Amino acid sequence: MHIILYGAPGVGKGTQAKILSHIYHIPHISTGDILRENIKNQTPLGVKAKQFMDGGNLVPDDVMIGMIKAIISSDRCKSGFILDGFPRTVAQAEALNIILCDLHINDYRVINFIVPEDVIISRLSDRYVCVKCGKIYNYSIDKFKAGDKCFKCGGNIYQRDDDKPETVKKRLSVYHTSTEPVKQYYTTTGRLTNIDGLGTIDEITLRLLTALQKKKN
Ligand code: AMP
Repeated sequence: MHIILYGAPGVGKGTQAKILSHIYHIPHISTGDILRENIKNQTPLGVKAKQFMDGGNLVPDDVMIGMIKAIISSDRCKSGFILDGFPRTVAQAEALNIILCDLHINDYRVINFIVPEDVIISRLSDRYVCVKCGKIYNYSIDKFKAGDKCFKCGGNIYQRDDDKPETVKKRLSVYHTSTEPVKQYYTTTGRLTNIDGLGTIDEITLRLLTALQKKKN
């Protein structure tokens, strides 16, 4: 199964990708997580990406396309993948199309999560992440206190720098300018399925599974 999760930052792609990855036993490929891991390890990619990410900008297409090509051509993705955070520009979508054609992968689905912008802004400012296992917490729902540890693995919980209000604004504006056209690209190619991204995590998972089971014509 080959799934691309599309949508603005904060629509719930990461949360649902982790769940789908368990259900379908296919890897969750989050380009944001890979870049953050590179930043943590101070790799050349991390050093380069950091300057773009800190300002809420996109990492250049050539860097991202090379990275995703290596990953989805690897053995790890031979029975499928869930892409989360890629493609984010039409150039990335076009490059992905070529990569998938070369790999003879034609059955991929693109899921678009629809969430109103005011909800996105409040979700992002409430979002905290476990530094160790990546579990996503919501400050309003999970009601944790400063210093609390991840209940799953005991890791520290932190707020991503780019989830702070100034950067969120910039990321949403970059989304509208550079990433929204990708929706049109996949609508035109008949790949896109829209999902209501409001509701509980379980409700959204159920909608997703129902949509993925339906054959696209
Ligand atoms: P995310 O965790 O998906 O919200 O991504 C965090 C940041 O990583 C983004 O704001 C971008 O700076 C960078 N990033 C992740 N994926 C991509 C991509 N496909 N193209 C360009 N930049 C990306």
